[in-house]
Amino acid sequence: MFSSMSNTSLAFRLTLWYSTIFTTSFLLVFAITYGLVSSVLNGNAEDDLEEDIVELHAYYISEGESGIWRQVEEEIASDGADQIFFRLLDNQGRVLRSSEMSIWNTLGDSLAVTGTTSLLELETSRVSHDEFEYDVQLGYASIDDNLILQMGHSLEENAEFLEIIRTIFLVASPILLLLASVIGWFLARKALGGLEVLTNTAMNISKGKFDERVPYSDHGEEINRLGSTFNTMLDKIQALLNGMRDITDNIAHDLRSPLTRIRGEAETTLTTRDAIDPEQYQKVLANTIEESDRLLNMINTMLDITETEAGLMKRNKSAINLSELIHEACDLYQPLASDNQIEFEYNTEEGLSIEGNASFLQRLIGNLIDNALKYTQPGGKVSVTLKKIRDQILIEIQDTGIGINEDEKDKIFTRFYRSDASRSKTGNGLGLCLAQAIARAHWGEIQVESLENQGSTFKVILPQHHN
Ligand code: ADP
Repeated sequence: MFSSMSNTSLAFRLTLWYSTIFTTSFLLVFAITYGLVSSVLNGNAEDDLEEDIVELHAYYISEGESGIWRQVEEEIASDGADQIFFRLLDNQGRVLRSSEMSIWNTLGDSLAVTGTTSLLELETSRVSHDEFEYDVQLGYASIDDNLILQMGHSLEENAEFLEIIRTIFLVASPILLLLASVIGWFLARKALGGLEVLTNTAMNISKGKFDERVPYSDHGEEINRLGSTFNTMLDKIQALLNGMRDITDNIAHDLRSPLTRIRGEAETTLTTRDAIDPEQYQKVLANTIEESDRLLNMINTMLDITETEAGLMKRNKSAINLSELIHEACDLYQPLASDNQIEFEYNTEEGLSIEGNASFLQRLIGNLIDNALKYTQPGGKVSVTLKKIRDQILIEIQDTGIGINEDEKDKIFTRFYRSDASRSKTGNGLGLCLAQAIARAHWGEIQVESLENQGSTFKVILPQHHN
């Protein structure tokens, strides 16, 4: 309801914009055209009048006054006495002779010749008068010593022509306005149609149809781009949701097996208590504690991963001497390596430090060394190196162990992933996930190179400075 309302109002606004712009442009074009036409018509009227006077002057020179009047009669016969008049006056403005003036006399004083002009210099004026619904073009010129020729043209035809243009405009504008609104509305609906498809999809998704996607449509490239961005976003969200479901499934699974085991053992011990000696009880209880510790450890590690990924650890950072930290970690693991008959060596560049969280960095290194020792057979070798390459710190943990096959290289960093080959060893599949989260929280990452049955190299790359 809400969406369709705002959609309508956007379409309405677009329509309004479209018709306003259209109408304004139309009005502007009309005003300019009208102005141009009327000024051309007026200019023509003045030119016509001048030409007439010059022509009559020519008749006067060749044939005298009678030449003028023959021409005048011809013109009046063809145009009508209400369209044109001629007068001859002397220099005092007295009328010597004139054509039919009954209509023109209503112009009164406007007809007065105000001064003598030199030969053929024209005086022209435009006059409007209540009696006439149109303007009149008047003009006079001296055609001889004491002779002035005056004439007037009615501009009725021009006025009629302009009137026609105005009528056309008046009739056309509401039609055009209506047309512009219809076209604008149609265009807006068409443009927004794509959005409606998007809204419908979103509405279906909110009703629970999570598989729904925006279909490809012919509503234009922008809408399709929006649609495909929307779809990509939905895919990402779906992948995240699936990931979350996997994690929950894994947690449930990984917690259930040890809990079932503990419960089973306790139950068996209880039901057969007569036959069992106290030592057996102690063994079962110790086992329960051990399993519980393992579970607690797993839950804590999961919380640590979440915390690290959420960036909470960033608050507890200080300058850490990495060289020392790795030294200490290696010293700690040396006895374990000897116990397993694994050659263990380390080579650390001195004085390398970064900004970080000491206890998390210890766990990162510890997890990697622990894995290297865990997945290497007796007689093998594990080596740890720390060095600086340009402004990056590189920690390499290399082993000659069971290795990781190509398909598994990406998976080992995900929660709970354990390869089949590692099932015989203790572990919960969270170590590398936490290590990677810690490296990322320090703006770095862990990469792995490995050949099956030959060994693996885990590389921790940490930038020494970051923005
Ligand atoms: P865990 O070691 O508890 O199984 P990790 O997250 O530390 O869990 O490691 C995930 C998996 O990656 C291991 O199960 C193992 O298959 C593989 N892996 C990790 N380190 C090594 C290594 N150094 N050599 C061979 N495989 C390894």
